[in-house]
Amino acid sequence: MSKRVIIVGGVAGGASCAARLRRLDEQAKIFMYERGADVSFANCGLPYYLGGVITNRQKLLLATPERFRDWFNVEVRIHHEVLKIDREARTVDVRNTQTGETTTQSYDTLVLAPGAAPIRPSLPGVDLPGVFTIRNLTDIDQVQNWIAQREAERAVVIGGGYIGLEMTENLIHRGLDVTLFEMLDQVMPPMDPEMVVAAHEVLRARGVDLQLSNSVTAISEGPEETLKVIDRASQSHFADLVIMAVGVRPDVGLARDAGLQIGHTGGIRVDDQMRTSDPAIFAVGDAVEVRDFVTAQPALIPLAGPANRQGRIAADVIAGRSSSFRGTQGTAVLGLFDLTLAMTGATEKTLKRLGTPYEVIHIHGNDHAGYYPGAHMMAIKLLFSPDDGRVLGAQVTGRAGVDKRIDVIAMAIQKGATVFDLEETELCYAPQYGSAKDPVNMAGFVASNILRGDVVPADWDHWYARRDAGEPLPVVLDVRTPEEFAADAVPDAINIPLGELRARLDELPRDGELWVHCGIGQRAYYACRILQQHGYRVRNLAGGLKTFKLKNGM
Ligand code: FAD
Repeated sequence: MSKRVIIVGGVAGGASCAARLRRLDEQAKIFMYERGADVSFANCGLPYYLGGVITNRQKLLLATPERFRDWFNVEVRIHHEVLKIDREARTVDVRNTQTGETTTQSYDTLVLAPGAAPIRPSLPGVDLPGVFTIRNLTDIDQVQNWIAQREAERAVVIGGGYIGLEMTENLIHRGLDVTLFEMLDQVMPPMDPEMVVAAHEVLRARGVDLQLSNSVTAISEGPEETLKVIDRASQSHFADLVIMAVGVRPDVGLARDAGLQIGHTGGIRVDDQMRTSDPAIFAVGDAVEVRDFVTAQPALIPLAGPANRQGRIAADVIAGRSSSFRGTQGTAVLGLFDLTLAMTGATEKTLKRLGTPYEVIHIHGNDHAGYYPGAHMMAIKLLFSPDDGRVLGAQVTGRAGVDKRIDVIAMAIQKGATVFDLEETELCYAPQYGSAKDPVNMAGFVASNILRGDVVPADWDHWYARRDAGEPLPVVLDVRTPEEFAADAVPDAINIPLGELRARLDELPRDGELWVHCGIGQRAYYACRILQQHGYRVRNLAGGLKTFKLKNGM
């Protein structure tokens, strides 16, 4: 007999599951309930529709209920909310949100794909008209209408994560003035602080009033139909609308009420085949707790790629295949005006928090050959195991070619590759696309040099730690040109240009360590090799002066 499969939620995870299941099982009876007005829409495109980058609303609808019926023989019910699961009877109660009618539907297999809901913190005034969260097309339509009807000129965005930043950029595209609040001292909280300094610069350069280390304590009605946003220093900021983007929380109400296990992170607990604690019920997407691929820790990583893959895996398993989910490594990318920030795997923050041993390097390289016009420098931070060189994580910030490098390293992490593999990785090259020694290879070279003992690294953090502890600081040797040194130097550094180093070795103390740096790390590496072979104890300061400045917020 054909099985009845009910899917709750009709966007990334739910829609992928429905379509895949039909491709594997022509007999199954598949029902997909979605409480909103649309299925399979592009949440990720919503900010760009607001900003006028995507002009055709229809393009955001990747598939309609009719398409699901005609192509996949899936019965889709929009405006239908699943209210309750009766696990013993294997039924769900479903309410038509337009008519109010409630029916009971039976299932053999249930798939929960309810996503995550935007957090609305319990601030005074958070429910006032004009305060929005963004989750679906209806939300973005409301913002569009509000801006148009009020001829809005000023917006406050609360939260400097992906959605807050994308909304900020697109409100600027719409011609609004934007104040962005982020309670931490950096935007993009998942990334390490020095890798987002460029984002702060871009935001300020575009006129955003960036309020770091500041938060909103209340919202109230202001004069002339404005909203008054009060910050923690009791300053008032007036705006025509407020976008609340302080994160999302897994939508686990149904699962919890049904007695399914919820993990410590607050997501639905599933096994690697996406099965919940009830074998007849699967769960996928933003609502589930995943295993972090690198750290093996339980985590919430709400991204579209994992949600789609999980939907597909659940369908495979329901259809009798033995697929399993490998975990999520948090590969993500953000476009912010002309800047791109991307990450994969573990960050330094995470490794520190978990006490995981790691080694770190920073390099700066061009997205394509420097001699070909239009090359842009990108910053790469690579984290790897000091024992075997396994790549643990990477972050890249720059204007071009960032996504390509992070995707290559993401695949390396997925395959358990080491920094020695990055050295050997063969990537395509023509001058307009890359370099014969691609930044990914360069990162591999620098990291491998450390593991082979060809150069001993020092991190700027160690330098600060010693300075802050009042410990004697090592001699810092800057091997850039005198002109570069005169323009910009680390306090108390001495300057011997690389080209003069062999002739001026006697000027350097032999009784302590020398910490060597240049602009971005290359000349310092050459200097370290010279000095080491002349018997000096040297360390290479990772990432050069550029990284020093990023870490110093300069
Ligand atoms: P969702 O896509 O949220 O779908 C869940 C659906 O379930 C919802 O439509 C909801 O109405 C429905 N539902 C919930 N409960 C019930 C119920 N009881 N009955 C019926 N229906 C129910 N990710 C990226 O990787 N890259 C990006 O660039 C990116 N940009 C984003 C931009 C925005 C503005 C937003 C909001 C998200 C973005 N994301 C991005 C995140 C990505 O969209 C999500 O990770 C992904 O959609 C999760 O898929 P899901 O199926 O788990 O949940």
